[in-house]
Amino acid sequence: MTRNEELFARAQITIPGGVNSPVRAFRSVGGCPRFFTRGEGANVWDADGKRYLDYVGSWGPLILGHADPDVVLAVQETAAKGLSFGAPTEGEIELAELLVERVPSMEMVRLVSSGTEATMSAIRLARGFTGRDAFIKFEGCYHGHGDSLLVKAGSGLLTFGNPSSGGVPADLAQHTLVLDYNDAAQLHEAFATHGDKIAAVIVEPVAGNMNLIAPKPEFLQAMRDLCTKHGAVLIFDEVMTGFRVGPGSAQGLYGITPDLSTFGKIVGGGMPLGAFGGRRDIMHKIAPLGPVYQAGTLSGNPLSVVAGLVTLNKIATPGFYEALTAKTRGFVSGLSAAAQARGITFSAQSVGGMFGIYFAATPPTSFAEVMQSDKDAFNGFFHAMLDAGVYLAPSAFEAGFVSAVHSDADIAATIAAADAIFATMAKG
Ligand SMILES: *Cc1c(COP(=O)(O)O)cnc(C)c1O
Repeated sequence: MTRNEELFARAQITIPGGVNSPVRAFRSVGGCPRFFTRGEGANVWDADGKRYLDYVGSWGPLILGHADPDVVLAVQETAAKGLSFGAPTEGEIELAELLVERVPSMEMVRLVSSGTEATMSAIRLARGFTGRDAFIKFEGCYHGHGDSLLVKAGSGLLTFGNPSSGGVPADLAQHTLVLDYNDAAQLHEAFATHGDKIAAVIVEPVAGNMNLIAPKPEFLQAMRDLCTKHGAVLIFDEVMTGFRVGPGSAQGLYGITPDLSTFGKIVGGGMPLGAFGGRRDIMHKIAPLGPVYQAGTLSGNPLSVVAGLVTLNKIATPGFYEALTAKTRGFVSGLSAAAQARGITFSAQSVGGMFGIYFAATPPTSFAEVMQSDKDAFNGFFHAMLDAGVYLAPSAFEAGFVSAVHSDADIAATIAAADAIFATMAKG
């Protein structure tokens, strides 16, 4: 048994599935999850001492790579002065001011401890603000594990949804309408039918939880126009895309102004932190100003706040996103070219520092299309890359991430590793 296998066997005795978040269990790709002992820059090391180039980055937060020295130092210095107060600190104001300054739609911000809390709270706020219960989400988008959000499409196009998880009351799912991503016509139809009942539309402005799906510009524009027309709140869930696809996040990149936005991942610099915010009149409905309750013992935790502040300041340097975007684009075009030369059915695309790879002829534009990609081919590729020392997300249905510290040599080595695997796949 390897050390990873020993740890996994032991973990499963006391932790359900051996993991504290399901996708870590490698169920989709099979095999034994790697237990990590250390990360530095673009690299991670597992319990057997094997090194991997990491394209997961803790599922997105680590835009500066692992153990960035400035982030680590700031956390250490802050920790020495107290871990939590349950009272306001100046750092929270600085982080709120920074989010308001960088993101076009943000007028006020509330800090929480995870992306899930941010989206759950944004939905409650939108319902409280509009006095309506129903909202629209899109198939394949993930917005954390709040009850109302764990919902799949109902039996008909415009019928309300069914729970996609045990433990979610059907009564709650009944308020969630699940539509197809990138389908503006469906949105028009849904608002025509249910317009006066809809509190909000929540969307990943670039979908990253069903692999990567890029938005059609008319899709985002349609939801903006329809929300305005019908008095619904447009929520951009930027937990993944926030500061990942550009300095103003996805809303800056696509020039759409949502009413509320949610953040997580990068804004916490690798520590637990989320945020939601937006229009001042809507944010005024939150307690203690308004009737919509929301709270958190560890909200605005000083360690999370300082990790986020240092991260957001380090990525504000001129040219940061141009470089990250070019590097990520170079990576996916290198992979595509290698696959094409070997005759493998494969495609790839990127937005800023996030990317999707698909064993499909062209990048998918919806959940249904993603599901048609060749999952077995991905799983074989995933394990061969893992053996070659490249850590990709352990599922065909997740986006990947490039950090600022992945070097040109790292990228070239990854493409070379992929090329060797494509060559084997072509033969086999
Ligand atoms: C990761 C993610 C969440 C959930 O954030 P957690 O911190 O895991 O609770 C919500 N929405 C999107 C788009 C995400 O990518």
